[in-house]
Amino acid sequence: MDRQERAQASSVATQSLAAGGAWIVDAATGAARLSAGARRLVGAEAGEPVPDLIACLPLDEASQAEARAAIAAAAAGGADFDLTLHCIEGGEPAALRLSGGAVPDEDGTTRRLAGVICDADEEARLAEEVAARVAHLRSILETAQDGMVVIDAVGVVQSFSRAAERMFGYTAAEAMGRNVKMLMGEADRARHDGHLARYAATRERHIIGVGRIVTGMRKDGSQFPLHLSIGETDVDGRRLFTGFMHDLTEERRSENRTQQLQTELAHISRLSALGEMGSALAHELNQPLAAIGNYITGSRRLLADIPGTGRAVAALEKAAEQVLRAGNIIRRLRDFVSRRASERRVESLAKLVEEASALGLVGVREKRVALQYKLDPEHDAIFVDRIQIEQVLVNLLRNGIDAMETATRRELVISSRLASKGVLEIAVSDSGAGLAPQAMARLFEPFYTTKAAGLGVGLSISRGIVEAHGGDMSAENNADGGATFRFTLPLRSQA
Ligand code: ADP
Repeated sequence: MDRQERAQASSVATQSLAAGGAWIVDAATGAARLSAGARRLVGAEAGEPVPDLIACLPLDEASQAEARAAIAAAAAGGADFDLTLHCIEGGEPAALRLSGGAVPDEDGTTRRLAGVICDADEEARLAEEVAARVAHLRSILETAQDGMVVIDAVGVVQSFSRAAERMFGYTAAEAMGRNVKMLMGEADRARHDGHLARYAATRERHIIGVGRIVTGMRKDGSQFPLHLSIGETDVDGRRLFTGFMHDLTEERRSENRTQQLQTELAHISRLSALGEMGSALAHELNQPLAAIGNYITGSRRLLADIPGTGRAVAALEKAAEQVLRAGNIIRRLRDFVSRRASERRVESLAKLVEEASALGLVGVREKRVALQYKLDPEHDAIFVDRIQIEQVLVNLLRNGIDAMETATRRELVISSRLASKGVLEIAVSDSGAGLAPQAMARLFEPFYTTKAAGLGVGLSISRGIVEAHGGDMSAENNADGGATFRFTLPLRSQA
C-alpha cells in the first residue's frame, strides 16, 4: 500500500467505526465480544453475552450463510474478508458491512478473529460527507494564492499545494517525500533540522503561530522573499506542520517602485515650482546681472584712457560675455521647466539642438564628452513645439552620456538628414555600452529601466512627443559600438 492508499483505508476504517463498532469472536466457541458501537448496532445490552455474532445480526438467509462461511474460512487460515450483507426485508438497517480476519497468536494458531461491523448506508453517507469536505478543502487549497506545504515532524513534505508548485517550480510529485529544506535559502536550510529537533524536545514556539519573512529557493536556484506562517496539528498521533507561504516578490518590487516614483514626483513638483517661480527668479537674478553688466561697462570706460590696462580691459570684456551667457541660461531654463500648452512654430533645428545640448550637458563637462553636430544646413526649419523637442533631445543626450559612463571613447553625434519629402530624420548616436538584446523590445515601455536610479519614463515620453508630431522613433546598435536613436519630424510646410 502506498501512502495515499493507507490514508484512504484508515479513513474508511474510521467511518466504519463511526457507523458501527468493533467485534472479536472466539474461533472455537463462536462467542463474541462487542464494542459499545457494535452492541448498539445489533441491539445487545452492555454485559449481555453474545454467543453467536452472526445469529444476532438481522441478516437474510443468504447473507447469514455468506458471513458464516467467511468467518470459518478466515479461522481456517484463509484471507481477511470485507462483506456487504443484506438484512431482512423492511428491517433497519438495510445492509451491514462486516469486515475482519484472523488474529493469530504468537504460536501461529488462530484462537480469535476480529473486525468491524457497521451500517453500510450510514458508512457510505459518512464517506460521502468526508469526500465532500476533502474536495472542498482541496478546492480552497488549489485556488488559494498562498502556497501550502505540510511536513512531518522530521521535515519530510507530505503535501504540496498548486500555489506552492507555481511558487517554487516543483511539481507536488517532485516535492512530496523530500525534505522541506530544499525550498529554503542557505541560511534557513542549515538550521531547519535543528529547529525541528529543538521544538520536538522543548515544545518552545518560535515561528509557530507568529510567522516571519524568510528566503525561499525555487527549483531553478533563484531566491525570493516570502512570508511564512506555520500551524501544527496532530493526526492519528502523528505531528504535522502546515506552512502557509505568501510570495513577497511583487510587493517588494512595487514598494521599491512606489518609493522611486515618490522621489521622482517630489523632484517633478520641485521642478514645476521652479517653473512657477521662474519669472520671479529671472527678475531676481536679472537685476544683479544687469547691475554687474553696468559696473563692467563703467569699469571698462574708466580704464579705457589709462595706458597699460589692455589686459584688464580684455578680461572685463570676457566677464561681460559671461554675464550675457548667464542671462541666457536662466531664460532657457525657465522656458524649459515652465508648464505651458503645446505650441508649434517654425523653429531652427540648429538652434534647438544647441539649446538642448547646453541643458543636456549641464554638470557633465568633467566627464569630457566630445559632442559633434552633423546637421543638414539645407533642411533646418522644422514645424514643432520647441520645448517638447528640446526635451526629447535632452533625454537622448542624457541617456547617451549615461551609457558612456565607463567607456574610454566618449563621443556623441547629433545628425540630421532628409528622410523623405517633408520629413527630417534626427539621430543621436553614442559610443557607449550599446543596447542589451533583452532591452531592445522594452526600451520604450514606461518604467523600463536598467539604471539603479532610473525611472524609465524618458524614452516612452520622448516617443510620445515625437508621435504627437506625426513622426516615429527607433533605436539600434552601431556597428562600431554604442547605440543610435533616430526620430523623424515634419519640416516646415513648403506651401
Ligand atoms: P531611464 O534613463 O530612466 O532608465 P529611459 O526610458 O530614458 O529611462 O531609458 C530606458 C532604458 O533604455 C535605460 O535604462 C537603458 O537601459 C536603455 N537605454 C536608453 N538609452 C540608451 C543608450 N543610449 N545606450 C544604451 N542603453 C540605453
